[in-house]
Amino acid sequence: MIDDSIRVLAGDCTVITDGPDREEFRGRVTTVVKPDNTVLVHDVDGYQPVAWLTRADSVSSSGNGDFSLVAKKDGRTLRVAAHDQDGFVQYQASRAGSPVGECPDCGGSLVCTTGDVSCVDCSNRYSLPTDATVREERCSCGLPRMRVERGLAFDVCIDRACESLDDAVREAFDREWRCPNCGGDLRILRRGGLIAGCENYPECDTGFVIPDGVVDGECGCGLPTFETASGRRCLDATCARLVEPTAPPDP
Ligand SMILES: [Zn+2]
Ligand SMILES: [Zn+2]
Ligand SMILES: [Zn+2]
Ligand SMILES: [Zn+2]
Repeated sequence: MIDDSIRVLAGDCTVITDGPDREEFRGRVTTVVKPDNTVLVHDVDGYQPVAWLTRADSVSSSGNGDFSLVAKKDGRTLRVAAHDQDGFVQYQASRAGSPVGECPDCGGSLVCTTGDVSCVDCSNRYSLPTDATVREERCSCGLPRMRVERGLAFDVCIDRACESLDDAVREAFDREWRCPNCGGDLRILRRGGLIAGCENYPECDTGFVIPDGVVDGECGCGLPTFETASGRRCLDATCARLVEPTAPPDP
């Protein structure tokens, strides 16, 4: 079930804003209360609300006959009192994003918003790495796959429990690179993000966040270089020995 909902109150209302400046309106308006307690009072003119309070600390409503709604934030109050109520309804609501297919569990639409893919009809939600792009291609479980660059371009299911990006990166790069400090193997680990960290931790605490990009060669320091959206770089972001590729790297 979706737990987010949008409440809508429509009717002939008096709207009073209290705070630094007090204003009073009366009209046949529609009030929208969003899940984050943002209250928007719309009349027929223009696109802007006639009154609003963004992310109120509290929104309370009461109604026996005459319905009223009170939103409060930082000493400001927005009151909407209905004299003639056309309706007060609570609608289920979701985030809106670009459609990326069908939910394999409920058949609802999957939409992609910043950082995740979610179903508009059930609670299925998958968080994506910020640089991931959702593909047309489906996983065998029915969900879309995403492309993520971590040394190579990996296409894995958006559900980490189905296909693990960490496992794919580990399979490709675990023990592939040497620690520039002690010569130990670099292991692929997750510490917040994916990192290549020295096997001799904690004696050696060398570790590098794996860049969002594809390995395209070797740096003067012996570590791999990555082609990223912001240019070519060494696995070690602070490395001073990065040179533009001219010839194949020395053996
Ligand atoms: Zn669903
Ligand atoms: Zn899958
Ligand atoms: Zn080391
Ligand atoms: Zn380097």
